[in-house]
Amino acid sequence: MATQSQDSLVKVSSEVVGCTKCRLCETRRNAVPGEGLENSRVIFVGEAPGEQEDLQGRPFVGAAGKLLTELLASVGLRREDVYITNVVKCRPPKNRPPRKDETAECRPYLDRQISLITPRIICPMGNSAIHSLMDSDKSVTDLHGMPFEIGKITLFPMYHPAAALYTFQLRKVMEEDFKKLRGLLDSLLG
Ligand code: URA
Ligand code: SF4
Repeated sequence: MATQSQDSLVKVSSEVVGCTKCRLCETRRNAVPGEGLENSRVIFVGEAPGEQEDLQGRPFVGAAGKLLTELLASVGLRREDVYITNVVKCRPPKNRPPRKDETAECRPYLDRQISLITPRIICPMGNSAIHSLMDSDKSVTDLHGMPFEIGKITLFPMYHPAAALYTFQLRKVMEEDFKKLRGLLDSLLG
């Protein structure tokens, strides 16, 4: 379809920045479309922007983002080597969980980003992203660190880095999951 072949990540981002499809547009300071490598083989997906993200218009730039950046570095990846985004692109007030209707309105942006980037691996981080991207009601505790093949894409659920800020032992678990992800990337791409 002509409209699809003309789509681009830049177009998605500019639509997100001007989007008024749900009530979150009324309270956001900046929408946060996502950023990273246009043809990245892996996409990391969080829940929704927090305060720092809302201020800067960039994903994962607060405390959780710092940990994500460190976890990437621990397996030899830089933020610029991957694509990082969220299911919902605008910050919910006081970081409340996004509501069903907000997620439903916002979801097409993520789907377009995935179609344009064509990653081999998608890492939903935390229950919110996991339940939005995977057909499962199991918790991250049961699903993290295990690859699920869906067609040409492998879903690799992980804990949300914010969880490891509150529960220190989870940092070790996340480090192990990132090592597994590195192995998966090497085997898929190597
Ligand atoms: N938490 C998220 O889920 N996403 C961000 O971008 C930052 C914190
Ligand atoms: Fe639009 Fe998504 Fe922001 Fe709602 S959260 S205003 S749907 S970009």
